[in-house]
Parts: sequence; C-alpha cells; structure tokens
Amino acid sequence: MTADDDETHRGSCLCGETVFEVHGPLSDVVTCHCTQCRKQTGHYWASATAQTQHLRLLADSHVRWYRSSGTARRAFCAKCGSTLFWQADAKPAEISIAAGVLDGATGLRTVGHIFCADKGDYYEIPQEGYRRAQWG
Ligand SMILES: [Zn+2]
Ligand SMILES: [Zn+2]
Repeated sequence: MTADDDETHRGSCLCGETVFEVHGPLSDVVTCHCTQCRKQTGHYWASATAQTQHLRLLADSHVRWYRSSGTARRAFCAKCGSTLFWQADAKPAEISIAAGVLDGATGLRTVGHIFCADKGDYYEIPQEGYRRAQWG
C-alpha cells in the first residue's frame, strides 16, 4: 500500500445532515468565477477534484442534484443549502468537491482560477500562485 491509498478526507455540510469521506487523493484547489458558480455559492466556487469511486457518502438523505447546464450538474444539501459537488457529464469518473465543506486541515492549496473574466467587480483575484487554468 502506498501513502495515497491511506489518504482520507472528510467533509460535511452546514447542518451536518450530509457527511462524506474521500478515500483517495484530492487535487489542489481551483476557483471558478463564472456566473453559475457565483450564483450558486453567493461568491465564487473553490473545489478539489477526486475520483468519483473514492467518494463515500455516509449520510446523503438531503443531497440534491441540480442540472445547472447542458454539460454539468451540481449537488447541494437541501436542508441547509451548502454547496457540495460539481460534476461534468463528460467526466463521470471525476467529481469536484467544494473545498469549504472539507473538515479540518486539508493540506491543499489554491493553484488556479478560471473564468476570471466573469468575476464580480467587488473583489480581486489573489495574485499569489495565480495561474489561469483551463478546462480539461
Ligand atoms: Zn446540510
Ligand atoms: Zn464556474
């Protein structure tokens, strides 16, 4: 077994009715400033990507999926409204997990920002570690 096989992350929503674990590695964090992400989160989206097969939903009775576009869907907790997951139809083997719902120290860092042209005019994108990532 390698260290990655032992890597486990835990996450939960604001009300605690949604609990999950990731039994595997998470990518570093990318933020998305597109209009859809801004609307859903109330600010902007920040997520780490995992292999879908590594995600274990331990409590999911309030998880709801919203089809936000013709190419992707988003999950949230229907009780408290926490944003949870984003998944592209074209990449079902991967799932993006909202960085803010991960519990405890993540060990992750933000490495990229996408859809910067759509960002709100009331904040600046941090320059440190700035890299305009691309889809895919
Ligand atoms: Zn909740
Ligand atoms: Zn977005």
